Amino acid sequence: MDRKESYLSVIGAHYVPDIVLDFLPRIFEAYKIRDYKSKNFQVSACENTLSTAGLLLSVASIESYANRIFRFEEKRGPVPEKISEIFWSKNNNFPKEDFERLLCEVYILRDVIVHNHIYDISTAVDRESWEIKHLDETLVIGKGEKDKKFKECVDCAAKKTKLLKLHVQPLKIGFEDLFTVLFVFDTFVRLSQSMLSDSHVPFRLYCKIGKTTESSLSRLLASYYRQITNEEYLKALESLLTELRGKYAHFLVSPYDDAFINNICPRPNCGKIGFHTILRGNTCAACGLSIGRPLAQNA
Ligand SMILES: [Zn+2]
Repeated sequence: MDRKESYLSVIGAHYVPDIVLDFLPRIFEAYKIRDYKSKNFQVSACENTLSTAGLLLSVASIESYANRIFRFEEKRGPVPEKISEIFWSKNNNFPKEDFERLLCEVYILRDVIVHNHIYDISTAVDRESWEIKHLDETLVIGKGEKDKKFKECVDCAAKKTKLLKLHVQPLKIGFEDLFTVLFVFDTFVRLSQSMLSDSHVPFRLYCKIGKTTESSLSRLLASYYRQITNEEYLKALESLLTELRGKYAHFLVSPYDDAFINNICPRPNCGKIGFHTILRGNTCAACGLSIGRPLAQNA
């Protein structure tokens, strides 16, 4: 008798672990030499190109997993709305409007890149210091204030989404936007596994770092987090992560509770973000608390 097997034709499962995380070090190298304080209308071509590609692949991966969830749950529709509704159907305390909004902002960024919104940019540069003294960026092709969803989610004057603070002027999209979307991706994966099942979203990470293999996206993101020096971004990130932890952490169950939003120092009154890392093991950067995971070798 023939052996029968069935598969779901999902292709986006490996985009983040095998491609995006593979070129993340190159993006970070370009990012960390940036002058964060100077006024500019673009990040470097290397940072921008790889970050926008990484963002598209990360959203394509969410889309793939969402379709797998739709197949299991026999539902269909726009991903931000339907996924939030499915989570809510499993637990009516789940803040579905908030999560829909979170995914909506990620999808807006996807649209900005994939449809290449065009801005007309003009600058006035100081002749001696070469600093940009005046900058004007006007959207000429793409969705703007006239689009209801865009207006709801985007601060059009700041050219950033309202909650996640993602840049919507395409040339400014860089490491910080990708990093934010990666921990939203991580939150989506862990919520799906906790509230539905591991089969719904069978995300696997297998990252070779020196002689060590890393399997946790949370620890990998924390290792980057600990090297970020842009104070403005760190401050915004801290308040965003605190907000997301307050809303979603109690829906994460073991063994899927090791999400980046939960990756904080366990010492009472500390709570510093990025406690479990690859490079430094489990040691707090603020209070020095250390808990026994051996450090990665040759990392
Ligand atoms: Zn601490």
